[in-house]
Amino acid sequence: MLIGLCGGICAGKHAIAEYLIQQQGFQLLELASKMPQITDPEDDLRLQASEIRKKGDTQPEHTFENADILLDFATKRWQERWITTDIADASTLDRFLLRPFFLLVSVDAPVSLRWKRFADRCWRRQLDPPDLEKFVLWNDHNLYDKDVGRVYLTDKAQVRLFNSSSSLEELHSALNTLDLADEERLRPNWDQYFMQLASLAAQRSNCMKRRVGCVLVRERRVISTGYNGTPRHLRNCNQGGCPRCNRGDGGGVGLSTCLCLHAEENALLEAGRERIREGAILYCDTCPCLTCTVKIAQVGISEVVYSQGYNMDKDSAAILQEAGVRLRQFHPPSNGLT
Ligand SMILES: [Zn+2]
Ligand SMILES: [Zn+2]
Ligand SMILES: [Zn+2]
Repeated sequence: MLIGLCGGICAGKHAIAEYLIQQQGFQLLELASKMPQITDPEDDLRLQASEIRKKGDTQPEHTFENADILLDFATKRWQERWITTDIADASTLDRFLLRPFFLLVSVDAPVSLRWKRFADRCWRRQLDPPDLEKFVLWNDHNLYDKDVGRVYLTDKAQVRLFNSSSSLEELHSALNTLDLADEERLRPNWDQYFMQLASLAAQRSNCMKRRVGCVLVRERRVISTGYNGTPRHLRNCNQGGCPRCNRGDGGGVGLSTCLCLHAEENALLEAGRERIREGAILYCDTCPCLTCTVKIAQVGISEVVYSQGYNMDKDSAAILQEAGVRLRQFHPPSNGLT
């Protein structure tokens, strides 16, 4: 795999790269000339930063003329572990993101903390650190300037890290728990894949109370999808179609007067009893309510996977257990640290 690390000045890119190199067998890929030739008032700061990097780094083993050569190199050796902090612009990043072995990781930290880190490094190299205001201006330029702004890169990160710890040990133990090298981050497993489809279906919901999405699957194939809302030809819930949902009463109040079909009901109706056979799995982003649970049991679903709890999980679980339907909660891999 190839991990691309991006983030603001002194957010911790190099500390993370260093950790992955030392502890998890990653190798660093670098570009030969990474300092853009721009002349502006912040140049002395940039020089200072490059000076610090030069003094701090050992001679890199893998250095490339440009990003495309770097990417070709990694493509031929994608089963090894590579890391780079040298992705500098959005169009380069887009080419990297096309590759299935590439993972973009962003790292951020409070600006005052980053300024302190930068100042500490300056002191250690016997250089005068900038004051906070100068650092902030330089930082704004680095993050938000047209064409060079790093914020456009971090926006596309698949994993976002927040590194506010002041000790390296803390960062290392958090990284250890997070396990960035886990290949499942590159390609979702079946649970992740179907749960993401369920979440996508939920976005089509028109119910005023809550967005829910559901996917029915058998032998890893989607049989049907569903989201909650009023039945066909009726006005959508969010256009006033269901008076109960639009009254804004608390959860569970007046449930029997609700006109909205639940996501699970819609998915079950769409699939039909014939197509739901042994081995069918129902993925839902919310734990099914009681009335859905009895229908799930009746049509012969084998397993229910949900991601978020609802207010009657225990009752639903009891019914499903009695009916012989497996129930489990899905936890997506975590993607941040503090
Ligand atoms: Zn509704
Ligand atoms: Zn309703
Ligand atoms: Zn329901």
